[in-house]
Amino acid sequence: MPNFFDEVNKTFDEATTFTDYPTGLLDQIRCCNSVYRIDFPLRRKDGTIEVIHAWRAEHSHHKLPVKGGIRYSPEVYEEEVMALAALMTYKCAIVDVPFGGAKGGIKIEPGNYSVDELERITRRYTHELVKKRFIGPGIDVPAPDYGTGEREMAWMADTYAALNPGQLDAMGCVTGKPVTQGGVRGRREATGRGLFFALREACAQPDEMARLGLSPGLEGKRIVVQGLGNVGYHAAKFCREGGALIIAIAEREGAILSAAGLDEEAVFQHRKQTGSILGFPGATDLPDTAAALELDCDVLLPAALEGVFTAENAPRIKARVILEGANGPTTPEADPVFREKGIMVIPDIYCNAGGVTVSYFEWLKNLSHVRFGRLSKRHEQANELQMLKAIEGATGKRFSDTERAAMAKGPDEADLVNSGLEETMISAFQDLLATRRAHPRIPDLRIAAFVNAIHKVARSYMELGIFP
Ligand code: NAD
Repeated sequence: MPNFFDEVNKTFDEATTFTDYPTGLLDQIRCCNSVYRIDFPLRRKDGTIEVIHAWRAEHSHHKLPVKGGIRYSPEVYEEEVMALAALMTYKCAIVDVPFGGAKGGIKIEPGNYSVDELERITRRYTHELVKKRFIGPGIDVPAPDYGTGEREMAWMADTYAALNPGQLDAMGCVTGKPVTQGGVRGRREATGRGLFFALREACAQPDEMARLGLSPGLEGKRIVVQGLGNVGYHAAKFCREGGALIIAIAEREGAILSAAGLDEEAVFQHRKQTGSILGFPGATDLPDTAAALELDCDVLLPAALEGVFTAENAPRIKARVILEGANGPTTPEADPVFREKGIMVIPDIYCNAGGVTVSYFEWLKNLSHVRFGRLSKRHEQANELQMLKAIEGATGKRFSDTERAAMAKGPDEADLVNSGLEETMISAFQDLLATRRAHPRIPDLRIAAFVNAIHKVARSYMELGIFP
């Protein structure tokens, strides 16, 4: 059976047929530069000792530091971590984030460990990375992924700082930290917000929407979301606020359906209180969670794990757009089925890049040691007020206090981060469309995305030359 790394490389190989780089160079781009496998002991709270298995893979050193999340899941295996690291290389290239790709994983089900045990696992893992120089603000910068969040990133940053006393840029060793620990405003929501920008941009293309039999614009689009974690929750929130309807949400234990639309926060609170998504007031239960993927909808948003769409279920997918929040939800066997059915797949290596984009902003903030907007906010506000006064003078009319406050506020950190993310997602989508349109034989946006990534990484390797 092909593993996830083989699957990523299969798509990579298809994309190389639209380039003319030497085979050796393409081989160098495709392979995973370093893989570090770690086994270490954990003393459980009952006194027994358990061996924990973990990995960190650095796919491409063509730009440093390398960057990518840390996943906690019982399903983690070496080739999966390598595949996710490879996707990070291509993702960073597509959105012009100047990092190579990396990924880490610890093979645990977090729910089976106490908070104290999770902290000791995270700190020991970080220590192992420090020992082999697999972490550092200029070397390798982890971030959250499936099963991890701000809490784990704070533990990692603290461990790294403790082992590197006096290192000025130590907090740049990891991103996705709490704002109080050097994190940046907007990082928590960034992947979901980026998915919203990607979908909004796709829906704004009248010709693309006409081809799919959809009206232009996000307004009224019916969306099914799989996975109400960080990515799924925030993507659902921004899409709903942008006018879309979340008609179904699928979680591990089942799915719920409501044609009138679901509020992700109410569903999240219901699941927190009852322990299950099922039984949400006003919604219909679907005990078979996988069945939610096959519902009649406009947009399907997988935001859980990879390998969701296979040759088996792809023919039954009714969505017109698949927005890949998760990494690798579509297997290479499902892609041709989606092409055949005329489904627009907005590929993971583009559309879920909001997280790494804002992680880049967080890293820049850590290196500059100052909050975005701190130096310029009041200066810009003063300029805006001057402009308003000039308009008032010229027109003889006065703005209300509310209008004045809205037009002359000066950008703060969240405004600047969200604006940088919006610009990144819009321009990268236009690049993908331009590549697909320039080469009529390129079958979809995924191959267009890989082609764009290969061009950028290849150019970098050719300019760098080969050492020694
Ligand atoms: P998360 O742990 O916060 O959420 C994942 C959710 O999926 C959980 O609520 C889990 O219960 C649910 N889930 C698991 N199995 C399921 C199933 N079979 N059906 C339905 N739901 C299921 O993780 P996340 O950070 O939201 O990451 C989700 C995906 O997005 C992963 O593929 C990850 O690699 C990718 N991703 C995450 C980020 C990020 O910034 N966190 C960035 C880019 C890509």
